[in-house]
Amino acid sequence: MSSENQYDLVVIGSGPGGQKAAIAAAKLGKRVAIVEKTDMIGGVCVNTGTVPSKTLREAVVYLTGMNQRELYGASYRVKSDITPADLMSRTEHVIGKEIEIVRSQLQRNRVEMLTGTGSFLDPHTIAVDQPERGERSMVTTDYVVIATGTRPARPAGIDFTPGRVLDSDDILNLSAIPASMVVAGAGVIGIEYASMFAALGTKVTVVEKRPAMLDFCDPEIIEALRFHLRDLAVTFRFGEEVVGVQSSERGTLTTLASGKRIPAETVMYSAGRQGLTDELNLQKAGLEADNRGRISVDDHFRTEVEHIYAVGDVIGFPALAATSMDQGRLAAYHAFGETEVALTPIQPIGIYSVPEVSYVGATEVELTEKSIPYEVGVSRYRELARGHIAGDSHGMLKLLVSTEDRSVLGVHIFGSGATDLIHIGQAVMGCGGTVDYLVDAVFNYPTLSEAYKVAALDVTNKIRELRSFGV
Ligand SMILES: Cc1cc2nc3c(=O)[nH]c(=O)nc-3n(C[C@H](O)[C@H](O)[C@H](O)COP(=O)(O)OP(=O)(O)OC[C@H]3O[C@@H](n4cnc5c(N)ncnc54)[C@H](O)[C@@H]3O)c2cc1C
Repeated sequence: MSSENQYDLVVIGSGPGGQKAAIAAAKLGKRVAIVEKTDMIGGVCVNTGTVPSKTLREAVVYLTGMNQRELYGASYRVKSDITPADLMSRTEHVIGKEIEIVRSQLQRNRVEMLTGTGSFLDPHTIAVDQPERGERSMVTTDYVVIATGTRPARPAGIDFTPGRVLDSDDILNLSAIPASMVVAGAGVIGIEYASMFAALGTKVTVVEKRPAMLDFCDPEIIEALRFHLRDLAVTFRFGEEVVGVQSSERGTLTTLASGKRIPAETVMYSAGRQGLTDELNLQKAGLEADNRGRISVDDHFRTEVEHIYAVGDVIGFPALAATSMDQGRLAAYHAFGETEVALTPIQPIGIYSVPEVSYVGATEVELTEKSIPYEVGVSRYRELARGHIAGDSHGMLKLLVSTEDRSVLGVHIFGSGATDLIHIGQAVMGCGGTVDYLVDAVFNYPTLSEAYKVAALDVTNKIRELRSFGV
């Protein structure tokens, strides 16, 4: 094969993990190519996942006037008849911009784009196929990073009738805002979309086979979210399983294992994700995926084959855009002998429901299980001037602080700006700070960040009271 087709690194998949692996290697002076399917530059993140869902949320919150109703009344709307076209125009605009940014970053770093589906011919040779054009090219490489991500899992036996029974990708092609919807699965994606549709006025029923939702979060925060969603007319069916969906011109009829039947205009399945490894011909590389299409890796994101790495959603938990980026960068560093610093365990979780939820560090349940003594400081947005100005009286921030050394052990936020505000707590924790930093620091006024100071004062007062008992 000519040297033109020989690379130091070939990355398969241009989502956040693939992009950052490619750019990190290019910055180290390596010759790098990314293989990506037609019209998918930027990956699931830009085209069907993170970016579209978060832009839709922004459009929903703006057009429904949701966040202004405390100030202007329950009937306040920016637009009364919201259509999918209203929502999608903003989404398509943002996707277009994001694609441009990804493309230009790759170009600036001289990362070559190879359009087509990548598959292994042997551990060092990748075929790039464009069947629609009847074309195949081949490249050889010293190293490979697999960053092929996932697709929505579709349970066997469920007929995904277009426009009626949907997965999270299909939501982006709705022709009308449904009057009613069943959301099967109360994971992060299911709850984010359930809250968006509820805000749009859709009558949503969430069916979840576990007894609770989002049980990795703080229960008090999730209770606040459930209360809020119930207020938007969301019905929850926990401990119930969907066993069948019939669809017809009239709509859908969902049958639960308990025998309940729920009529609705549409059903959205949010039944987890399946690793996109079936087209890779992994056995030719000496690799295999598990039954959910995931590839296992070591602490350096290296697979069982030394020169092949895998990053992002295809390796499973936590399957977030943010972590995928760092995994990609670290994989490239390891491959090319650059010193790496392992990912910090203090990683935030953001749930872009309406309202938002975010946390970092431990939950009360975890601390109690580990018998770590802590005290809780709480701040409610309704106590903050900025909360009133913004029209958010329901938000809250919880600070979990060690009663032994006053270190911040966890932060849990519900309400406006939660996914941004969390980084203050993350920074204090990451720098080994104590709650005293939050008590002594001066914050801009009026801001939601002040919630940290209020919660810090609350918890330090409680700790002082404990001390007065000699504890
Ligand atoms: C609805 C939804 C909402 C989300 N919201 C958030 C959020 O708010 N915050 C967050 O951090 N994360 C969120 N995520 C998760 C986030 O999108 C993923 O963690 C992230 O996109 C994973 O990046 P990745 O690098 O693994 O690649 P992906 O973004 O999954 O992209 C993989 C790419 O590989 C390509 N590919 C696959 N097979 C081949 C092949 N054989 N040849 C060539 N190319 C191939 C695909 O076409 C795709 O473009 C969300 C996901 C979804 C679905």
